[in-house]
Amino acid sequence: KQLEKSQETLLPTQCPYCSVQCSMTLIEEAFMTTKQYKAKPNKEDTTSGGRMCIKGANAHQHVYHKERITSPLLKIDGEFVPISWELAIEYITERFHSIQTHDGNDAIGVYGGGSLTNEEAYLLGKFARVALKTKHIDYNGRFCMSAAAAASNAVFGLDRGLTNSLSDIPHTNVIILAGTNIADCQPTIVPYFRQAKKNGAYIIVIDPRETATAKLADLHLKVRPGTDSVLANGLLKVIKQEGYIDDTFIKSRTKGFENLNTHLDSFTLDDVSSITGVPIKDIIKAGRQYGIAKDGFIFTARGVEQHANGSDTVKQFINLVLATGKIGRHASGFGSITGQGNGQGGREHGQKADQLPGYRSIENDLDRKLIASFWNIDEKDLPRKGVSAYEMIEKMMDEDITALFIMGSNPIVSNPNAILAKKALQKLKFLVVVDMFISETAELADLILPSSSYLEDEGTMTNLEGKVTLRQGERPPPKDVKHDWEILCLLAKALNKENGFEFTSAKQIFDELRLASRGSKADYFGISYERLSHEALAWPCPHQDHSGTPRLFETRFAHSDGKAIFSPLGRIPDGYGAPPEYPLLLTTGRVMAHYLTGVQTRRSPDLLKKSPEPLVEMHPETAARYHIQHDELIHLYSIQGSVVMRACLTNKIRKDTLFAPFHWGGSQAINRLVAPFLDPVCHMPAFKLTYAGMKPITEK
Ligand code: SF4
Repeated sequence: KQLEKSQETLLPTQCPYCSVQCSMTLIEEAFMTTKQYKAKPNKEDTTSGGRMCIKGANAHQHVYHKERITSPLLKIDGEFVPISWELAIEYITERFHSIQTHDGNDAIGVYGGGSLTNEEAYLLGKFARVALKTKHIDYNGRFCMSAAAAASNAVFGLDRGLTNSLSDIPHTNVIILAGTNIADCQPTIVPYFRQAKKNGAYIIVIDPRETATAKLADLHLKVRPGTDSVLANGLLKVIKQEGYIDDTFIKSRTKGFENLNTHLDSFTLDDVSSITGVPIKDIIKAGRQYGIAKDGFIFTARGVEQHANGSDTVKQFINLVLATGKIGRHASGFGSITGQGNGQGGREHGQKADQLPGYRSIENDLDRKLIASFWNIDEKDLPRKGVSAYEMIEKMMDEDITALFIMGSNPIVSNPNAILAKKALQKLKFLVVVDMFISETAELADLILPSSSYLEDEGTMTNLEGKVTLRQGERPPPKDVKHDWEILCLLAKALNKENGFEFTSAKQIFDELRLASRGSKADYFGISYERLSHEALAWPCPHQDHSGTPRLFETRFAHSDGKAIFSPLGRIPDGYGAPPEYPLLLTTGRVMAHYLTGVQTRRSPDLLKKSPEPLVEMHPETAARYHIQHDELIHLYSIQGSVVMRACLTNKIRKDTLFAPFHWGGSQAINRLVAPFLDPVCHMPAFKLTYAGMKPITEK
């Protein structure tokens, strides 16, 4: 007998699972005692084009999952026991006071996440510096955008993911996608590229794997992992040899090309081909296609950025943009495609070890004075620069950090050297984790605080284009679950911070953030909840009548002289070359159905069904050399550690390369194998190149 629908509730929201931030409505249908849900994309969304992918369609499943934490949990004799919020806050306050009295203010570390709203990211930075007075704060976005951010800051004087709106893409003539698999990671933006292709654009994909994105390509360069910067230099050499350098642009808008130009003669295309594994004819074809085109875009992502020379590599790709003058126009520009839901906004307002709100520097005297007075504290009480996310793990091993407060992150799965990361957290005197679930990291906590979900959170997010969007949170959180910002306010007040944390809504925090960012490079002052309820606005937006800045650098770059700076030729990090005992090149990444360390997506039954376990991709000829069959469990190992995973044979990967996803924890956490080699500038770990070996589990 058909059940009669008794009630329908519409929950307008925004998908939390990538930087496109597709808006949608979750429809909750009640049938007597049961409920069912379906997500409907917002046809008015100008960024997603009214689309959503499988992740968005199933995002709500984790919200209703039975494992969701619904009260604070205190670990007593190894078991988590529900306690009241009053007791939880009192307990944390006492432990933090006692640890700071004994070990100093900097003994407490704060570890944030790139999925927090702008309001929460801002408040977490303020909480660390003002309420805890610690210099030790960083976040998992260090592993996401730090290489591109460092490169963009150095070259352009400003870090924003894309210099243009996505809507400019269909009008261009050539696109280079370097180390970005948008078809799996940001599927709803693929139609912008398809349309460009339909309009005649030539698409070049640079990736060691023939990903779903590579299907878009007119030319696929199957580069050897870790050699992207050399490939970019090869393309620049072709551009110079064939006469596609834009002298007028270089003269009027850049500096530093002369030095670079002389060094282009120091290598040959033969050198480039032998290092990168890309045939010379393809290097020439790619350089020519990009050089000859009137307009063009280059997009990078983690594939070329998550290396010990990641920031340098991004700079080499930007050299191509500057040398051909393809930026600051309607159909020309550069972009690094952000991965995390709020990877852009999360890095702008103070979660990073070296930054204050509005990209201000924590080491710059003027910036310090301004923010200290804004926060109503003495400048000498504002902590100095801390260390990057992985370096915080090392500080825990050294017992410089003895307590940690984690909000929205799962560091024992997401850090390189994951085995050591777990040991470091186990060494702490006190660990507090704010999460929706008992993640792998939360299992180690002394106290877990339950936080609200994307369906329940009102707040702003900043998408990959730099557009600020308003996320509606129509569903009230379950009883005894709090918003992250509420938790921070409660704790700050309990820690005797009388002023500065009296917020009663996310909107009030945003209004303070707007003021804190006023006059900065990431100026949000002209953006308000009222305006965002009608339209998304790209920063900088300095006043209420300003329409935002969808396209950057049309007349000048953000350095004080208005010029962009060419970077010296790329370098290959020391120790390049696989040692004989670890001859394979392991690279890691995402699969379509999962997000970050999978804490939420592994709890969405439909997403888990699509990708139930991690698979190691390898070429059939490689597998044959190791006597490995398709679907067989294997040991995969490096000098750091080992995992057991199932082999997946595919001829869509280089013969010297393995690929494994990073969405699983425990003995399947691929970061157990990844060494903590950090980029010297931005401290991005080298996730995309690990020297590895493998063998079947069963003796053959
Ligand atoms: Fe949109 Fe990204 Fe969510 Fe997919 S994962 S629905 S592309 S926001």
